[in-house]
Amino acid sequence: SIFTIPSINPRVTQFLNLNFQFRTMASHVVGYPRMGPKRELKFALESFWDGKSSSEDLEKVAADLRSSIWKQMAEAGIKYIPSNTFSYYDQVLDTTAMLGAVPPRYSWKGGEIGFDVYFPMARGNASVPAMEMTKWFDTNYHYIVPELGPDVKFCYASHKAVNEYKEAKSLGVDTVPVLVGPVSFLLLSKAAKGVEKSFPLLSLIDKILPVYKEVIAELKAAGASWIQFDEPTLVKDLDSHQLRAFTHAYSELESSLSGLNVLIETYFADVPAEAFKTVTALKGVTALGFDLVRGSKTLDLIKSGFPLEKYLFAGVVDGRNIWANDLASSLSTLQAIENIVGKDKLVVSTSCSLLHTAVDLVNETKLDEEIKSWLAFAAQKLVEVNALAKALAGQRDEAFFSANAAARTSRKSSPRVINEAVQKAAASLKGSDHRRATNVSARLEAQQKKLNLPVLPTTTIGSFPQTLELRKVRREYKANKISGEGYVKYITEEISKVVKLQEELDIDVLVHGEPERNDMVEYFGEQLSGFAFTANGWVQSYGSRCVKPPIIYGDVSRPKPMTVFWSSLAQSMSKRPMKGMLTGPVTILNWSFVRDDQPRFETCYQIALAIKDEVEDLEKAGITVIQIDEAALREGLPLRKSEEAFYLNWAVHSFRITNCGVQDTTQIHTHMCYSNFNDIIHSIIDMDADVITIENSRSDEKLLSVFREGVKYGAGIGPGVYDIHSPRIPSAEEIADRISKMLAVLDTNILWVNPDCGLKTRKYTEVNLALSNMVAAAKILRAQL
Ligand code: GLN
Ligand code: ZN
Repeated sequence: SIFTIPSINPRVTQFLNLNFQFRTMASHVVGYPRMGPKRELKFALESFWDGKSSSEDLEKVAADLRSSIWKQMAEAGIKYIPSNTFSYYDQVLDTTAMLGAVPPRYSWKGGEIGFDVYFPMARGNASVPAMEMTKWFDTNYHYIVPELGPDVKFCYASHKAVNEYKEAKSLGVDTVPVLVGPVSFLLLSKAAKGVEKSFPLLSLIDKILPVYKEVIAELKAAGASWIQFDEPTLVKDLDSHQLRAFTHAYSELESSLSGLNVLIETYFADVPAEAFKTVTALKGVTALGFDLVRGSKTLDLIKSGFPLEKYLFAGVVDGRNIWANDLASSLSTLQAIENIVGKDKLVVSTSCSLLHTAVDLVNETKLDEEIKSWLAFAAQKLVEVNALAKALAGQRDEAFFSANAAARTSRKSSPRVINEAVQKAAASLKGSDHRRATNVSARLEAQQKKLNLPVLPTTTIGSFPQTLELRKVRREYKANKISGEGYVKYITEEISKVVKLQEELDIDVLVHGEPERNDMVEYFGEQLSGFAFTANGWVQSYGSRCVKPPIIYGDVSRPKPMTVFWSSLAQSMSKRPMKGMLTGPVTILNWSFVRDDQPRFETCYQIALAIKDEVEDLEKAGITVIQIDEAALREGLPLRKSEEAFYLNWAVHSFRITNCGVQDTTQIHTHMCYSNFNDIIHSIIDMDADVITIENSRSDEKLLSVFREGVKYGAGIGPGVYDIHSPRIPSAEEIADRISKMLAVLDTNILWVNPDCGLKTRKYTEVNLALSNMVAAAKILRAQL
């Protein structure tokens, strides 16, 4: 049967009964969003952190969310329902807790790890900093990086996986407990402070497996019949040594796992041929899960050979996007696989955890019905998975399939999606180069004649502090509670304050402060055609933080200028150059849900053309310095080395398209929010911007080493001289010291002086002091030159 039902409460039996008619089909979900349809977990966490509610309150919200998710999956008819995909912060941190790998600075005394140790690891507290956080593969989710070394004493210190399994079972749902697999856990870790960087993390495998064995034994004793190990690192470029770790780990676990069905889940890309060989040969493993949405080559590998006795979990429903599935096409893929693996060995699944998509379309009241019919959020994807499984089992829901086909047809032909002029213009871009005619040194010379800037010119990245009052005015204007006139007056005053402040501080290249913008992508998306916005389409980014990406559904065009009004107004307030401030096409693309009916680069080129129009209108309006932010360029890097060049090529091309048409005397800046660009430095140079400002808060060494190693760099560069993410104010001497370190490596005439990033999250008291010290530092050094 689908569920083993012990003596359970009647509320649950009621919803389980729905499923008994569909016994033969097999459906699975890799994982599910934890935040809740209205971000209930976020608010419960933040209130607990603020001391406004108790741990019991938080636990109650969490338990309710888990039970409603299990119930929802059971009602949708999902056969293999995951547990332990909930997390109070992050599933990798949960695994670190399970293994008792708490870094010593959290002074854990042993015993079951509770909130008092868990949350300080996640977020730090007054006396200890948090553990490092980093991007989870190429998603916008961030995980807490385990810190390991030869001295870590692993022990079973969090029973969360077993507790959640039991909790679901007591609700009448027999789940598949999910663990981060032991090899991926180690491959995603870093060497702890004080441990050699080159410490072989994989050498710890035999120390963590005993804990995994204890967990497995407890799950078995609790009645589990399946277990899922997430091993997404299998999609990366692994060497043979790393691949052997999988073989070793799972043969070590084989006897513990006997009697269980074991699923190894991979996602985010196809599994390379060598890894495919390894994973299909793993001992003790009975099922393999593949991402068939992004894993375009996996199907060929399956066709070329799949082990007879194993289950295949086919991830055909996209966990990374918000589009309704193409059910007909998925069904034919599934049928092809069924012919290879056999009817009783195929399970319909999601491409990855649904954590990376929005939660429930039901709560979207702003979107019109037509657009809604094109979409599927996590809750709708459950229904899709099950509809596909039913169809495979010969119980195709004709009404559901034909509604799906009709929605796809309407999406394909809708005049809201298609703009032939835009498609033509974008198509004609391919193959050409789009470079400014003059080289960067000559351009800088021409610009300097016009701008007449001092050496070590000072500037900021764009935004100034956004006060509560400012946010309120924007909100009220949006809600039509204040008039357009009143709004323009308020924003004009705000800009005027920011301009005066910068003049008083004696900054050389000014900004207007971005008071009219809530978010650097949303602001542009709202003014471009082809974008839609959700009310509740939140996706977890890290901890309690969520983002609400815009949805790009159609060909992108710019009906009218977007920033010219505010930029020219700001320029009219000062004789100093005022930077026009735009978000670049690659960043708009990478921070949105992107259409799946054309390649990403196609959409990116369309956005680039819209931004190009804006750049040229700014230039016509007399703006001589224009910054085009590409904060997220690096985020789009593919998971495989072999695909990097292709991505970087069209991404950098898109950026160049935006500004290839301006005069030599117009200075193009760009800004990036990371310092580790050593590996993509040639692409950054190829962007051919006149000036680049970059984050540099953590270490000057890392960034400057590229240039020390002799990379030829002729454009202007402003490595951030202080960290805007911290409330700490550096002194003028400290900043001057950093600048002189930079001068040892970079030419005096290309160095700019600026903070790390925008100032929007800081207070005016902090900004005034920090910027004043920054300008003083530039002046100290100018005097020494
Ligand atoms: N111009 C933007 C700002 O200053 C850049 C933000 C970013 O790089 N994330 O806010
Ligand atoms: Zn930034």
